[in-house]
Amino acid sequence: MTAIAEQDTLRASARDWLAANFPPALKGRAYAAMVDQEPALQADLEVWRQRLAAQGWGAPTWPTQYGGAGLSHPDAKVVQEELEAADAFNPIPALAGMGVTMVGPTMLEYGTDDQKARHLRGMASGEIRWCLGLSEPNAGSDLASLATKAEDKGDYFAINGQKIWTSGADISQWCGALVRTDPSVKKRDGISFVLMPMDQAGVRTRPIPLISGSSPFCETYFDDARADKADLLGKLNDGWSVIKRLLQHERQSQTSAGRRKLDNEEPLQDLAKRYVGSDADGSLTDKDLRVRLVENLMADKAHSLTVARIRAEAQGQVKVSAAASILKNSATNVAQGKAELKMEIMGAQGVGWEGEAYEADELASVREWLFGKAASIYGGSFEVQNNIISKNILGLPETTQRG
Ligand SMILES: Cc1cc2nc3c(=O)[nH]c(=O)nc-3n(C[C@H](O)[C@H](O)[C@H](O)COP(=O)(O)OP(=O)(O)OC[C@H]3O[C@@H](n4cnc5c(N)ncnc54)[C@H](O)[C@@H]3O)c2cc1C
Repeated sequence: MTAIAEQDTLRASARDWLAANFPPALKGRAYAAMVDQEPALQADLEVWRQRLAAQGWGAPTWPTQYGGAGLSHPDAKVVQEELEAADAFNPIPALAGMGVTMVGPTMLEYGTDDQKARHLRGMASGEIRWCLGLSEPNAGSDLASLATKAEDKGDYFAINGQKIWTSGADISQWCGALVRTDPSVKKRDGISFVLMPMDQAGVRTRPIPLISGSSPFCETYFDDARADKADLLGKLNDGWSVIKRLLQHERQSQTSAGRRKLDNEEPLQDLAKRYVGSDADGSLTDKDLRVRLVENLMADKAHSLTVARIRAEAQGQVKVSAAASILKNSATNVAQGKAELKMEIMGAQGVGWEGEAYEADELASVREWLFGKAASIYGGSFEVQNNIISKNILGLPETTQRG
């Protein structure tokens, strides 16, 4: 059978499987189920999670022995297209926190067989949520300055220190953390990456409220917390190599949308016509807005086509590299520009926080606009991505001080 014929067969079987297994109540309700966590949808969401996990489609490109479906990237794309065509969605990457998108792919590359066997299935099924303890009060962009220390205690490390901005730390079962294992050498040469359970006496979390109304991240304190030696990911004192790869996976995961999509989201041009009005010929009455809106739509299209071209050129291999920094910044620009335009289009209706005067999509939009500000900070700030692009892609000289 040709590759195309095989994909057609996969597409047809994916369509049939979705028709039989995707709970109809969740159709087009990803945002309501996952972000708003509507109680009426939670039972269906759990059934859907279990079915997807059994199919290996939570992390479709992972090997079957680790809970994936062993699909090639082009085949996984076919499944994704069919999910979208059915107005369905894959909740598992979000349920696994930083597991499926970041810790898992890094573990596939750097992990021992024992680590893969113990950890990957829980991520691929969305049952075990992972957080990432990287940033500290004095180590954000300059991550190598981190001070959380790990002391060798024989068969485990004792971890002491503080992390900050740890997304989902209060609801995660496991954490991948960057810790200092040798303070006597150059900053980057004395860091290791460890995996540790969050449910232990030495770990305490304190949620930090966000301007968008939710509290997605925490301060995380380690007070003689324990990470088993068997859970050292990569080599001792080689955590910098591990984290560089993990951060590329993080940026890669932030290259497509740049923001969460609302349910049944109205195209921006239709929204503009509805709020601002159109001429007899159907053009937006506000010409200046029309120009800026078209610029954003074109940038969005150019970004999506570039992502598609890179995927096609990689022939399904999807190798992460410094180029992810370009795409992360481009996705952020498009998404933040779109959110600004949406607010402008909605006018006073677009800045409401609560109350009957506002439609549900207006209230959701203001929260997404505020949350979207974070996109140029998390995963490495906009400026830091530009530094990576200038050094690793353009070959320009290093401008920042290194210890
Ligand atoms: C929503 C959200 C979720 C997050 N989740 C996590 C998480 O799960 N785990 C985790 O460990 N961290 C997380 N972070 C933290 C994030 O990685 C850091 O906020 C980010 O790396 C920036 O570090 P900082 O906040 O310390 O800012 P700083 O590093 O202090 O930067 C402050 C400003 O200075 C600029 N700047 C700094 N250095 C340079 C330079 N060399 N050149 C040019 N400009 C520079 C920055 O661009 C920024 O504008 C999250 C952040 C957000 C907003």
